[in-house]
Amino acid sequence: MILLDGKATAAAIRKELGEKVGILKSTTGKVPGLAVILAGEDPASAVYVRNKERACAEAGIVSKGYKLPASTTQEELEGLIRKLNEDDSVHGILLQLPVPQGLDSDRCLDLIDPDKDVDGFHPVSVGRLTLGLPGFRSCTPAGVMTLLDRYGLDVSGKKAVVIGRSNIVGKPLALMLLQRNATVTVCHSRTANLAEEVRSADFVFAAVGRPLFVTRDMVKDGAVVVDVGINRTDAGLVGDCDFKALESKVAAMTPVPGGVGPMTIAQLLINTVRSFEMKQGL
Ligand code: NDP
Repeated sequence: MILLDGKATAAAIRKELGEKVGILKSTTGKVPGLAVILAGEDPASAVYVRNKERACAEAGIVSKGYKLPASTTQEELEGLIRKLNEDDSVHGILLQLPVPQGLDSDRCLDLIDPDKDVDGFHPVSVGRLTLGLPGFRSCTPAGVMTLLDRYGLDVSGKKAVVIGRSNIVGKPLALMLLQRNATVTVCHSRTANLAEEVRSADFVFAAVGRPLFVTRDMVKDGAVVVDVGINRTDAGLVGDCDFKALESKVAAMTPVPGGVGPMTIAQLLINTVRSFEMKQGL
């Protein structure tokens, strides 16, 4: 089995981006900037934000953290986003979700300039993805595609099954796979014969949020399995797939942790550097 090592791949991407940003800095005199907004005290969000800031530093991207109290009003948050939209040193704006209760995250995401929407959540970005037009792609599914590319795994003409249909993972991932000419089936909580669907797949993408959901009998021999799930259990961090049971059956698989998670952050960096290049007309 080939281990699809997201941790190592993400580290290589950060290094490559660092070199690229160095060249861009010497030719333009400027560096890419990412604004990261964290409202409230959610501990998991704080960890994600810290990891993103650390990754930015490694890639030569200036990250500007905006930590707001849980008592922040909708007007204050919207005011900050408007200010960052106008700020020429900011090429990407990331609003860490979830926002505290009482704040309307959809309205905030709508306000982000689509040219700075490096998270790919703005309806314009989603529309561009759906139409196959250039634009920012949601980082987790785009990170999955980048990982497959790096391992030379081509989904064209293959049967892909995506388990999960969320707006941030399942749905955009299905569209990206379709764009790459896979034959795509999307499964969810109302799918009849889910195990049968998954068994027919050359590529399985699990984004369910349930520990060990994908078992050995659900996967065909030689399939490629990408586990997006991150579940905190008493046994530590586990994915949606039973890695140990699948290991001897599949052709390639991502581990959890160390698979899709680091690729999500790497993709955020890729999107931010791309946004910077576009701003410079490159
Ligand atoms: P959501 O909870 O938004 O979506 C889960 C999806 O799984 C839904 O479409 C749901 O179906 C489906 N589902 C739930 N239970 C079942 C079931 N028993 N049978 C079939 N389908 C089911 O989760 P997200 O998409 O946000 O995240 C999925 C997982 O990926 C989570 O573990 C999350 O932590 C992880 N994640 C990892 C990231 C990373 O960077 N690696 C980034 C984002 C998420 P229905 O729509 O019918 O309810």
